[in-house]
Amino acid sequence: GEARIVDGVPVQSLTMAALVDAIVAMTRTTGVDVLVGVNAHVVNLARHDATLRRFLATTTMNYADGQSVVWATRLLGAALPERVATTDLAAPLLAAAARDRLPVYFFGARPGVAAGAAERMAQELPGLAIRTSHGYIPDEESDALIRDIREHGTRILFVGLGDPVQERWVERHRDQLPPVVLTCGGLFDWLSG
Ligand code: UDP
Repeated sequence: GEARIVDGVPVQSLTMAALVDAIVAMTRTTGVDVLVGVNAHVVNLARHDATLRRFLATTTMNYADGQSVVWATRLLGAALPERVATTDLAAPLLAAAARDRLPVYFFGARPGVAAGAAERMAQELPGLAIRTSHGYIPDEESDALIRDIREHGTRILFVGLGDPVQERWVERHRDQLPPVVLTCGGLFDWLSG
Protein backbone atom coordinates (compact mmCIF):
# COMPACT_ATOMS: atom_id res chain seq x y z
CA GLY A 1 0.00 0.00 0.00
CA GLU A 2 0.88 3.66 -0.19
CA ALA A 3 1.73 5.89 2.74
CA ARG A 4 -0.70 8.49 4.07
CA ILE A 5 0.69 11.62 5.68
CA VAL A 6 -0.77 12.31 9.12
CA ASP A 7 0.40 15.65 10.50
CA GLY A 8 3.63 15.32 8.55
CA VAL A 9 4.22 11.70 9.58
CA PRO A 10 4.06 9.02 6.85
CA VAL A 11 1.92 6.02 7.80
CA GLN A 12 1.80 2.93 5.60
CA SER A 13 -1.49 1.55 4.34
CA LEU A 14 -1.37 -2.15 5.21
CA THR A 15 -3.51 -4.71 6.99
CA MET A 16 -2.01 -6.55 9.93
CA ALA A 17 -1.59 -9.75 7.89
CA ALA A 18 0.20 -7.87 5.10
CA LEU A 19 2.43 -6.13 7.63
CA VAL A 20 3.49 -9.46 9.19
CA ASP A 21 4.36 -10.82 5.73
CA ALA A 22 6.26 -7.63 4.87
CA ILE A 23 8.30 -7.82 8.09
CA VAL A 24 9.19 -11.49 7.52
CA ALA A 25 10.34 -10.57 3.99
CA MET A 26 12.48 -7.74 5.44
CA THR A 27 14.41 -10.23 7.58
CA ARG A 28 15.79 -11.64 4.32
CA THR A 29 16.87 -8.43 2.62
CA THR A 30 20.14 -6.59 3.17
CA GLY A 31 20.20 -3.41 5.22
CA VAL A 32 18.43 -2.47 8.43
CA ASP A 33 14.67 -2.01 8.17
CA VAL A 34 13.10 0.13 10.89
CA LEU A 35 9.37 0.17 11.68
CA VAL A 36 7.58 2.50 14.09
CA GLY A 37 4.00 2.26 15.33
CA VAL A 38 2.43 5.71 15.16
CA ASN A 39 -0.24 6.86 17.59
CA ALA A 40 -1.51 10.22 18.83
CA HIS A 41 1.35 10.48 21.33
CA VAL A 42 4.00 9.98 18.61
CA VAL A 43 2.29 12.45 16.26
CA ASN A 44 2.13 15.00 19.07
CA LEU A 45 5.80 14.52 19.98
CA ALA A 46 6.81 14.79 16.32
CA ARG A 47 4.96 18.09 15.99
CA HIS A 48 7.34 19.65 18.54
CA ASP A 49 10.46 17.59 17.87
CA ALA A 50 12.17 18.08 14.51
CA THR A 51 14.68 15.28 15.17
CA LEU A 52 11.89 12.78 15.74
CA ARG A 53 10.00 14.11 12.71
CA ARG A 54 13.08 13.63 10.51
CA PHE A 55 13.66 10.15 11.93
CA LEU A 56 10.07 9.13 11.13
CA ALA A 57 10.71 10.16 7.53
CA THR A 58 13.72 7.80 7.30
CA THR A 59 12.13 4.60 8.63
CA THR A 60 11.25 1.79 6.23
CA MET A 61 7.64 2.21 7.26
CA ASN A 62 5.47 3.51 10.03
CA TYR A 63 2.16 1.81 10.75
CA ALA A 64 -1.05 2.90 12.48
CA ASP A 65 -0.59 1.77 16.08
CA GLY A 66 -3.34 4.14 17.25
CA GLN A 67 -7.00 4.26 16.23
CA SER A 68 -6.89 8.07 16.08
CA VAL A 69 -4.36 7.79 13.25
CA VAL A 70 -6.88 5.70 11.27
CA TRP A 71 -9.59 8.27 12.00
CA ALA A 72 -7.34 11.07 10.80
CA THR A 73 -6.88 9.32 7.44
CA ARG A 74 -10.65 8.91 7.10
CA LEU A 75 -10.99 12.67 7.42
CA LEU A 76 -8.36 13.01 4.70
CA GLY A 77 -10.53 10.83 2.46
CA ALA A 78 -7.87 8.12 2.10
CA ALA A 79 -8.60 5.82 5.02
CA LEU A 80 -6.10 3.24 6.18
CA PRO A 81 -7.58 -0.30 6.10
CA GLU A 82 -7.22 -0.89 9.84
CA ARG A 83 -5.41 -0.10 13.04
CA VAL A 84 -2.42 -2.35 13.70
CA ALA A 85 -1.74 -2.04 17.43
CA THR A 86 1.79 -3.16 18.25
CA THR A 87 0.32 -5.29 21.04
CA ASP A 88 -1.83 -7.12 18.42
CA LEU A 89 1.01 -7.37 15.92
CA ALA A 90 3.35 -9.09 18.38
CA ALA A 91 1.61 -12.49 18.56
CA PRO A 92 1.31 -13.18 14.81
CA LEU A 93 4.79 -11.80 14.17
CA LEU A 94 6.35 -13.94 16.90
CA ALA A 95 4.43 -16.96 15.56
CA ALA A 96 5.94 -16.31 12.13
CA ALA A 97 9.39 -15.97 13.72
CA ALA A 98 8.94 -19.32 15.48
CA ARG A 99 7.75 -20.98 12.27
CA ASP A 100 10.64 -19.61 10.19
CA ARG A 101 13.27 -19.98 12.95
CA LEU A 102 14.06 -16.26 13.04
CA PRO A 103 15.83 -15.35 16.31
CA VAL A 104 14.18 -12.48 18.18
CA TYR A 105 15.53 -10.03 20.78
CA PHE A 106 13.51 -8.06 23.36
CA PHE A 107 15.27 -4.90 24.63
CA GLY A 108 13.49 -2.71 27.14
CA ALA A 109 11.39 -2.38 30.29
CA ARG A 110 12.35 -2.83 33.94
CA PRO A 111 14.66 -5.73 34.89
CA GLY A 112 12.86 -9.08 34.60
CA VAL A 113 9.96 -7.84 32.49
CA ALA A 114 11.27 -8.60 28.98
CA ALA A 115 12.66 -11.92 30.29
CA GLY A 116 9.22 -12.83 31.70
CA ALA A 117 7.51 -11.84 28.45
CA ALA A 118 10.01 -13.89 26.44
CA GLU A 119 9.56 -16.94 28.65
CA ARG A 120 5.81 -16.73 28.22
CA MET A 121 6.00 -16.39 24.43
CA ALA A 122 8.58 -19.18 24.08
CA GLN A 123 6.28 -21.48 26.04
CA GLU A 124 3.41 -20.71 23.68
CA LEU A 125 5.51 -20.85 20.53
CA PRO A 126 7.89 -23.81 20.40
CA GLY A 127 10.87 -23.06 18.19
CA LEU A 128 10.94 -19.40 19.14
CA ALA A 129 14.45 -18.26 20.13
CA ILE A 130 14.31 -15.06 22.22
CA ARG A 131 17.09 -13.34 24.10
CA THR A 132 16.42 -10.27 26.25
CA SER A 133 17.87 -7.23 28.01
CA HIS A 134 16.17 -4.77 30.34
CA GLY A 135 15.94 -1.17 29.18
CA TYR A 136 17.87 0.73 31.83
CA ILE A 137 21.42 0.48 30.54
CA PRO A 138 23.62 3.56 30.17
CA ASP A 139 24.49 4.40 26.58
CA GLU A 140 28.16 3.52 27.08
CA GLU A 141 26.99 -0.08 27.54
CA SER A 142 25.13 -0.08 24.24
CA ASP A 143 28.10 -1.61 22.39
CA ALA A 144 28.09 -4.64 24.69
CA LEU A 145 24.33 -4.94 24.30
CA ILE A 146 24.62 -4.78 20.51
CA ARG A 147 27.28 -7.50 20.62
CA ASP A 148 24.81 -9.69 22.53
CA ILE A 149 22.06 -8.88 20.01
CA ARG A 150 24.33 -9.91 17.12
CA GLU A 151 25.71 -12.98 18.87
CA HIS A 152 22.15 -14.31 19.18
CA GLY A 153 21.80 -14.10 15.38
CA THR A 154 18.87 -11.73 15.92
CA ARG A 155 16.70 -11.16 12.86
CA ILE A 156 13.99 -9.12 14.60
CA LEU A 157 14.81 -6.66 17.39
CA PHE A 158 12.04 -5.15 19.51
CA VAL A 159 13.07 -1.91 21.27
CA GLY A 160 10.71 -0.93 24.09
CA LEU A 161 12.07 2.19 25.81
CA GLY A 162 9.06 4.48 25.29
CA ASP A 163 8.78 7.46 22.94
CA PRO A 164 10.98 9.19 21.94
CA VAL A 165 13.84 7.42 23.77
CA GLN A 166 13.47 4.25 21.67
CA GLU A 167 13.56 6.17 18.37
CA ARG A 168 16.66 8.07 19.52
CA TRP A 169 18.40 4.82 20.46
CA VAL A 170 17.57 3.19 17.11
CA GLU A 171 18.71 6.27 15.20
CA ARG A 172 22.01 6.37 17.10
CA HIS A 173 22.85 2.69 16.56
CA ARG A 174 21.01 1.97 13.35
CA ASP A 175 23.98 0.77 11.26
CA GLN A 176 24.88 -1.96 13.76
CA LEU A 177 21.39 -3.34 14.26
CA PRO A 178 19.74 -6.55 12.92
CA PRO A 179 17.77 -6.68 9.64
CA VAL A 180 14.46 -5.69 11.27
CA VAL A 181 14.00 -3.28 14.17
CA LEU A 182 10.61 -2.39 15.67
CA THR A 183 10.03 0.17 18.38
CA CYS A 184 7.39 -1.16 20.76
CA GLY A 185 6.81 1.10 23.80
CA GLY A 186 5.35 -0.80 26.74
CA LEU A 187 4.90 -4.10 24.83
CA PHE A 188 6.99 -6.19 27.24
CA ASP A 189 4.97 -5.00 30.24
CA TRP A 190 1.82 -5.90 28.33
CA LEU A 191 3.09 -9.36 27.28
CA SER A 192 4.31 -10.23 30.77
CA GLY A 193 1.25 -8.88 32.59
N1 UDP B 1 11.68 2.16 29.63
C1 UDP B 1 12.94 1.61 29.52
N2 UDP B 1 14.03 2.43 29.69
C2 UDP B 1 13.92 3.76 29.93
C3 UDP B 1 12.61 4.32 30.04
C4 UDP B 1 11.52 3.49 29.86
O1 UDP B 1 13.08 0.43 29.27
O2 UDP B 1 14.94 4.41 30.07
C5 UDP B 1 10.52 1.28 29.41
C6 UDP B 1 9.47 1.24 30.50
O3 UDP B 1 9.88 0.36 31.53
C7 UDP B 1 8.28 0.72 29.74
C8 UDP B 1 8.48 1.35 28.36
O4 UDP B 1 9.84 1.75 28.31
O5 UDP B 1 8.36 -0.69 29.60
C9 UDP B 1 7.65 2.59 28.11
O6 UDP B 1 6.38 2.29 28.28
P1 UDP B 1 5.27 3.41 28.17
O7 UDP B 1 3.98 2.73 28.36
O8 UDP B 1 5.65 4.61 28.99
O9 UDP B 1 5.50 3.88 26.68
P2 UDP B 1 4.54 3.82 25.44
O10 UDP B 1 4.08 2.41 25.28
O11 UDP B 1 3.46 4.79 25.80
O12 UDP B 1 5.46 4.30 24.38
